[in-house]
Amino acid sequence: MSAAERQRTCAACGGPFAPGERTDLETVIDGGVLYVAVHACHSTYPPRRETEAARRLSA
Ligand SMILES: [Zn+2]
Repeated sequence: MSAAERQRTCAACGGPFAPGERTDLETVIDGGVLYVAVHACHSTYPPRRETEAARRLSA
């Protein structure tokens, strides 16, 4: 059984997965290594600070 089938909801937004929807797996370190399923366009990772800073400076 895949992580998406086990979870049934996105780890990032909490929304349900549609049947057959493409999902991505992300690694979460939480006392061990966990694999969580998210929608293909979602991420549990926060935006990188470097990227945020660069965008502010260029604005
Ligand atoms: Zn999602």
